[in-house]
Amino acid sequence: MWIRNSKKSSLVKFDDLPPSQKGRKFEIQGQGLRQFAGLSRDDDPLDPFELARYANLLVVRLEEIEALSDESREHLLGIGKDSWSGGAASHKLPDGRKLIILNPTHGKNRHAATLMEEVSHVFLGHKPSRLAIETVDKDGKVNARDYNHSIEEEAYGTGAAALIPYSALKRMVNEGKTIQQIAEHFRVSRALVEFRIKISRLWDLYASKVFSG
Ligand SMILES: [Zn+2]
Repeated sequence: MWIRNSKKSSLVKFDDLPPSQKGRKFEIQGQGLRQFAGLSRDDDPLDPFELARYANLLVVRLEEIEALSDESREHLLGIGKDSWSGGAASHKLPDGRKLIILNPTHGKNRHAATLMEEVSHVFLGHKPSRLAIETVDKDGKVNARDYNHSIEEEAYGTGAAALIPYSALKRMVNEGKTIQQIAEHFRVSRALVEFRIKISRLWDLYASKVFSG
């Protein structure tokens, strides 16, 4: 069975889409991003840094930010290094670009999902003003918190689908490839592969192939 992807007017094979309705939506959007990046095969690795340039995102490393205090820097790179993967500035730069900061203590593979989430926000036309509200906690501290869970889920889910297409993932799982091998192939983290396998309801298949040998 084939369905027409109205936005891109290309044909997507129904079997190549994940079982849930939300998953299919994110998959089709993710395929749109892959088309934009000029990828033709479903197992071509996607370079999120290249797409970030098209999305008008300026990606910098923490070391390149001079305005940060030594104390903040030490915290973000020291004791707090595992509690953040990256961040986006809520205001645009004067030239219209949006600043994205990635955690330099994490490897490039871990950056892929963070960066693709930000790319997806831009391509899906999410309004930054709708993404965060500022809240004041009981100690009077101001926190910017994600306010729309479904928008965050859509951006992350679409980015993840663009990085690891369902059809290729299913094929590789069927071939008995491990999470480690799939992660290396797509240049993403093992955690992202595991997330995609589970959200695409391929975990039972994966377990039967990898753990039963
Ligand atoms: Zn987000």
